[in-house]
Amino acid sequence: MPELPEVETVRKTLKKLVLHKTIESISVFWPKIIKNPVEVEQFTDALKGETILDVGRRGKFLILYTNQFAMVSHLRMEGKYGLHSKEEPFDKHTHVIFHFTDGTELRYRDVRKFGTMHLYKKGEEFLKPPLIELGPEPFSKEFTEEYLAEKLKKTNRKIKPALLDQKLFVGLGNIYVDEALFRSGIHPERIASTLNKNEISILHREIVATLSEAVKKGGSTIRSYVNSQGEIGMFQLELYAYGRKGEECKRCGTPLEKTTVGGRGTHYCPSCQKL
Ligand code: ZN
Repeated sequence: MPELPEVETVRKTLKKLVLHKTIESISVFWPKIIKNPVEVEQFTDALKGETILDVGRRGKFLILYTNQFAMVSHLRMEGKYGLHSKEEPFDKHTHVIFHFTDGTELRYRDVRKFGTMHLYKKGEEFLKPPLIELGPEPFSKEFTEEYLAEKLKKTNRKIKPALLDQKLFVGLGNIYVDEALFRSGIHPERIASTLNKNEISILHREIVATLSEAVKKGGSTIRSYVNSQGEIGMFQLELYAYGRKGEECKRCGTPLEKTTVGGRGTHYCPSCQKL
């Protein structure tokens, strides 16, 4: 599942591929992906003749801006965008095609079909679901140590599920939350309200550092991101914790453990992250 840094890489790549292209028509083969407007024809009619002016991001959502509209797109588990010529064949997993006037097309392919698209008049996108529910961006001025402390103080949830809640702030998914907690030396099952000021300070620093390192690394290797199928791929940072069950901790050498916290597979060092 792509997380904020991967979505940011997709955003930059997608922008280079589709900027200033004009939509001639749209084919929708799996209407359930379109969540707003309810009628798929309204979605396709509205975007006809529109030119893509920018590609933005909010949390893990991509936002395609046209003259009048903002299309909010979530890739969920498997969603991928790719730019193709109209002659190229496509398979049954391609669910939405934006046909451009220059003979190319932007294809949305999604094996699991969990992805979503919401279309709003520009300016309304932040006032409606899904974006209205999101907390601040991790790199924004609002996401301060004080903000994090204030929010964590009020919750009796375990720290990992608390940090995964995108209403608190956006950007941490299952991979980078394990990384940020590892780097902070905090056990994923600690009750959020028991973290002291110093721990929150370290945690805040490591959340921002983990995400910004991943964004930076993705940004520097952007060209390799369009694979041979013309699809935009994902970058992943070298990881300390996630996916390393049984391997040696890079700090202390203890084998890492895997458990389940809040229903999610969770990796941690039993020695560096004491409960
Ligand atoms: Zn360790």
